[in-house]
Amino acid sequence: MGRKNFLIALLIFVLILLESKLLCAELDISIVFDEAKKNLKRIDFILTNMGYSTGANVDADLFYDTARKHSISVKNIHYIHSSENRPLFFAFFESDSKDLFYVDSTGKKVKENIGFGKVVANSHEWDRKIRDKIFSGFEFSILTFTHMISSGAPYEIMKAGEFHNHICPGLWVGYLISQFIKREMKPGEDLIVFAIPPFCKDDFFQVRFDATAGKRSIYVREMRDEERKLYPDLAGIYVFLDRNKEPKRALMLGFDIKGIKREAKIDENEYPWLWRYRLNDWIVKNVRICEKSVRVIKEVSVDKEKVEKLKRGELSLKDL
Ligand SMILES: [Zn+2]
Repeated sequence: MGRKNFLIALLIFVLILLESKLLCAELDISIVFDEAKKNLKRIDFILTNMGYSTGANVDADLFYDTARKHSISVKNIHYIHSSENRPLFFAFFESDSKDLFYVDSTGKKVKENIGFGKVVANSHEWDRKIRDKIFSGFEFSILTFTHMISSGAPYEIMKAGEFHNHICPGLWVGYLISQFIKREMKPGEDLIVFAIPPFCKDDFFQVRFDATAGKRSIYVREMRDEERKLYPDLAGIYVFLDRNKEPKRALMLGFDIKGIKREAKIDENEYPWLWRYRLNDWIVKNVRICEKSVRVIKEVSVDKEKVEKLKRGELSLKDL
């Protein structure tokens, strides 16, 4: 190998080493906790995408030992799903003051007060912060999650929110529909979800009912034009299977999201993150009222053949 080629190869080797170091930096967890402690009076909750992000190496045992040392209960740690190529982050939250200290593997360290009233009152400033990605793109996740923690949202919404990686009105629709379904389901029955049309609600069913695509318990398709005209507020078709896994009946459910927006006085000309954030707040305070927004459009009896046709997208909803 010539001297020139050798130097080029050496340069490439060094660049690869540097890149892998940058992509997988070490985050010293004790230092991270110490800094959080310096910035907050108390640490009540931690949000993190640890276990999903490969943005940095963190010793999980050390993380739990350190959390315990700081008297943080394991139930107050929320694991926010993200793809592995996102930065690894830790967001420490103090629930009284609503102060938050954010650290991630890109080297970002930010302290912000994220009280709901304060964020809403300063929405222009916050919109700029969101566009500037002050929490590396996790702004909506962190704002919605911490506000739902502070509002005492149901466990099921927090759990599904971890998977969905934020909490939004669409996920709430999933919660409200699932409450309805739970009342409808007889002991021993199972469920197949037809996510037609699909939106955030459908991530909720995957968590609460284990209705996942891999287990062929959820089928997703958009609505055809003629179906949309016929069922403008359709929020899915829910097939109940009896003890022998035979499909017997299906409910076409509708959801009146427009009515909820009207009652909550939501202005859709607001920033998209803002009206969703405000609607979350209204829903969590009015869950009983919102439960009434679920309606049965139609109950239909189904058999195996009909359900198979639905799965393959061969059946128009107007023929159901
Ligand atoms: Zn969503």
